Amino acid sequence: MDVENKLIDLQTLASGDILQLQTYRFQGHKGTKKIYIQANLHGAEIIGNAVIYELIRYFSTLKSRDIEGEILLIPFCNPTAVNQRNLFFSTGRYSPYDGNNWNRLFGNYINEHSNLDSFIQKNINLTREEIQDNYYEKIIHKFQQKISYSQSRGISFSEHYRNQLHLLSLNANYVIDIHSSSVNSIDYLYCFDRRQKTVDYFLLDYAILMDQYDGYAFDEAFLNPWLFLEKKFLQTGRNITFDVESWTLELGSGMQINEESVTKGVQGILNYLSAKKVLNLEVRLPKNKTKLIPKNTLKSYYASQGGIIRNR
Ligand SMILES: [Zn+2]
Repeated sequence: MDVENKLIDLQTLASGDILQLQTYRFQGHKGTKKIYIQANLHGAEIIGNAVIYELIRYFSTLKSRDIEGEILLIPFCNPTAVNQRNLFFSTGRYSPYDGNNWNRLFGNYINEHSNLDSFIQKNINLTREEIQDNYYEKIIHKFQQKISYSQSRGISFSEHYRNQLHLLSLNANYVIDIHSSSVNSIDYLYCFDRRQKTVDYFLLDYAILMDQYDGYAFDEAFLNPWLFLEKKFLQTGRNITFDVESWTLELGSGMQINEESVTKGVQGILNYLSAKKVLNLEVRLPKNKTKLIPKNTLKSYYASQGGIIRNR
């Protein structure tokens, strides 16, 4: 099946060139789910580009009847960051415009301070699907209110960029954001509370369970409004889990492409999409469940003095 390639303008440079986002879209012949997959939000973290390359290659071999819904892929989701270089080294973690971490720019348009009482009252007797549709509309309305003044660019480039990316993902069911460790790491992912049921399908050994967060990372900004609504409904005695999920995969290390991590990423994503019935491949169940490590139990170790570390 053919991929639809669309360019989205990000910024007109002083030279007159236009910096653009490359997006790739596969539309299945039925189904309404939307899957959003991006990589390279941090410039040095290039493994996700290889993962998305393999996914595009694979989806291109399918027929439209093999995909239920729409899959949108953005391999170089941050062209500014990926081009930040100091000689051979890639920085690309912080915006050169304001020093902010590229993955702490995002925000919730509906959060714990929002008043959702009238929304709950109006929707309490509707089906999960109806409530989900209504809430999507509310999120998009809130988002548009928030960004309406940005048409005249009364905002910084970082904010403008953030809004563009957020808008592309806002109506997705499943969001997958692929990162890498800045130094060296095993492959793992981040899992939100109330979404533990599906974490195993990514076939990775470890996940960090998000029991605390600040809400400014891409995955959090997408899912938090939904988790917040679920909690509000729980208080009324109704337990709903919306068909909306968000995952950050951390594959391998920055500035290099570890093929084993690429393969794991591709296999995990295809298996997850099959479990979600977006693809009709046989679903693999992992031999061992993914071990969930609560985020509040993570411990950082710092050197007590300057020096060098060597293997012993
Ligand atoms: Zn990252």
